[in-house]
Amino acid sequence: KLILAIETSCDETSAAVIKNGDTILSNIVASQIKSHQRFGGVVPEIASRHHVEQITLIIEEAMKEAGVSYADLDAVAVTEGPGLVGALLIGVNAAKAIAFAHNLPLIAVNHIKGHIFANQLVSSLTFPLLSLVVSGGHTELIYMSGPDSFEIVGETRDDAAGEAYDKIGRVIGVPYPGGKHIDEMAHLGEDTYDFPRAMIQEDNYDFSFSGLKSSFINTVHNARQKGEEMDANDLAASFQSAVVEVLVDKTIRAAKDKKVKQLILAGGVAANKGLRTSLEEAVRKELPGVELLIPPLNLCGDNAAMIGAAAFVQLEKEEYSDFTLNGQPGLSV
Ligand code: ATP
Ligand code: MG
Ligand code: FE
Repeated sequence: KLILAIETSCDETSAAVIKNGDTILSNIVASQIKSHQRFGGVVPEIASRHHVEQITLIIEEAMKEAGVSYADLDAVAVTEGPGLVGALLIGVNAAKAIAFAHNLPLIAVNHIKGHIFANQLVSSLTFPLLSLVVSGGHTELIYMSGPDSFEIVGETRDDAAGEAYDKIGRVIGVPYPGGKHIDEMAHLGEDTYDFPRAMIQEDNYDFSFSGLKSSFINTVHNARQKGEEMDANDLAASFQSAVVEVLVDKTIRAAKDKKVKQLILAGGVAANKGLRTSLEEAVRKELPGVELLIPPLNLCGDNAAMIGAAAFVQLEKEEYSDFTLNGQPGLSV
């Protein structure tokens, strides 16, 4: 079964052709990062305009690289949300046009479920599982008893992990999005600043990163005011230690309590080297018998392949949308 999948929820225009929900025939990703960088974040209007310019070309390229024609397809899938409404609509309308023109079923996919299903492209999901979704807009622990069952057991009370990275990145002057740069700097520095590990002792699976962000910003401002030298790499390492420690601690605890067979990392922040290593170590030590899946770097950030993987579950259940499908900026799993 072949699915053409489209993703335009934020600042990547992407199209992919996926076979049987687990094999990538093509996955084209056009990033707009350069256009947004001088503004220090994603500008929604600019994102929409880029998607409009790119979408047809990217879809054609995905079809060509996969070596398939529209007649070969079994469905067209698209991210319906969450994301920027103007950006989502470009993908949704492109998918509707293709579904209409070629008489194909239309599948509306949740972007966060997509991030989780990125793991299906490299291994098989085994249930029950727990997924730590860490991205630019989300930090959630999601329990899945089966492929179409999603329960949020914990989430951030304020900033998402990726958002915190990007905000402190701006404070120490790295280009947007800061996560990747902070990660690289962290490996050159040491954990010398004492930043808070919010909610780590609390008896729940929730997170909070805004206190850590404020503490980081205050530390930098105070030092600047006093004219003190600061080691940016040490700041990055200290910030990363705090983030990773809370994420890993709560995830391991939730996985133990929920007695899952598999633990899954998902979302853009899953690319973080510190997080990947710490989680691997913690699972080895504390969760013997639990399998850990971490997507390869190219499937951590936004891409259409993960949307095609998630869509396959819906294709098998014939869970289709009609042409009234709209973008849903605030969609939850
Ligand atoms: P969402 O998926 O919640 O809708 P999004 O799609 O904008 O949000 P993603 O594309 O999944 O987010 O992830 C982007 C985020 O990942 C950015 O905040 C970015 O800084 C962060 N990120 C990417 N690489 C790393 C890294 N190595 N370390 C930390 N953060 C990273
Ligand atoms: Mg992005
Ligand atoms: Fe995302």
